[in-house]
Amino acid sequence: MYSTMPLDEIRIEELEVFAHHGVFPEETANGQNFYVNATLYVDISKAGRTDDLTCAVNYGEVCHFITDWMQKNTFQLLESVCEKMSEALLVAYPLVKGIDLEIRKPHAPIGLPFGCVSVKVHRQWHEVYLAVGSNMGDKEGYIHQAIEQLKRHTAIRVEKVSSLITTKPYGGVAQDDFLNGAITINTLLNPEQLLEELHRIEAAADRKRELRWGPRTLDLDIIFYDKLVYESERLIIPHVDMANREFVLEPLAEIAPNFRHPILQKTVSELLQTLRG
Ligand code: ATP
Ligand code: CA
Ligand code: CA
Repeated sequence: MYSTMPLDEIRIEELEVFAHHGVFPEETANGQNFYVNATLYVDISKAGRTDDLTCAVNYGEVCHFITDWMQKNTFQLLESVCEKMSEALLVAYPLVKGIDLEIRKPHAPIGLPFGCVSVKVHRQWHEVYLAVGSNMGDKEGYIHQAIEQLKRHTAIRVEKVSSLITTKPYGGVAQDDFLNGAITINTLLNPEQLLEELHRIEAAADRKRELRWGPRTLDLDIIFYDKLVYESERLIIPHVDMANREFVLEPLAEIAPNFRHPILQKTVSELLQTLRG
């Protein structure tokens, strides 16, 4: 899935759940009613055409999931309930690609007349392309270890892994050959959270940050994150130098040849052809 087609919606409105979330001791002791509104973003066309329940998201089951989850877990903040429950739902229901989740708390102890307070989040799976490289020690071992770590994360699904290619080092530092590859993941993490997770995985592979473009056990870069164009102090997406790197484009062309760069407006295979001249 590259371009995102508009999805269909399943709505759950005003599900009443008696639970114990709140900052005050009387809230956790006595409990109160919460009201949940959820929009599940799903492609319902197959279920619609076949009338087959196994192709559909069972909204009755989702309502029970929400009720059980809110009663089993207790949080101080509505923000935490929204954040963690939207993740739990997206992990538990693979057909659900995104969710708007609103939790209303009309009996919050505010001590003033008011209608309602609520928190609403939108969360969804994002399609991300990573470049992976290693040129020290057990290169293949480090790369496989990285893939295992990605698989183990609940908010990451590894979708595709390219073959690994041996390449000459880049950037003029004398060092051993690289092993390079590309990985497609789906993730619930935002770009900064994902970068943090990649750094954690690099650190677990004994990556030391000494010399830019110097030898390393493991390097994980974000190449594309959906069609997002994003810059911050720590991060540039799409990766700023990817179009000049055959060692990035070649493995990427194996798993995502038709993905179009959101700024350069060329597909990965076109970028590779242009670079090779
Ligand atoms: P290059 O980014 O040119 O491939 P590198 O991978 O060797 O070089 P690192 O030392 O691994 O460089 O990373 C330096 C910093 O680059 C990271 O700490 C991170 O904050 C920043 N960075 C910017 N954009 C990205 C991106 N798209 N993916 C990963 N890191 C990025
Ligand atoms: Ca890099
Ligand atoms: Ca890097």
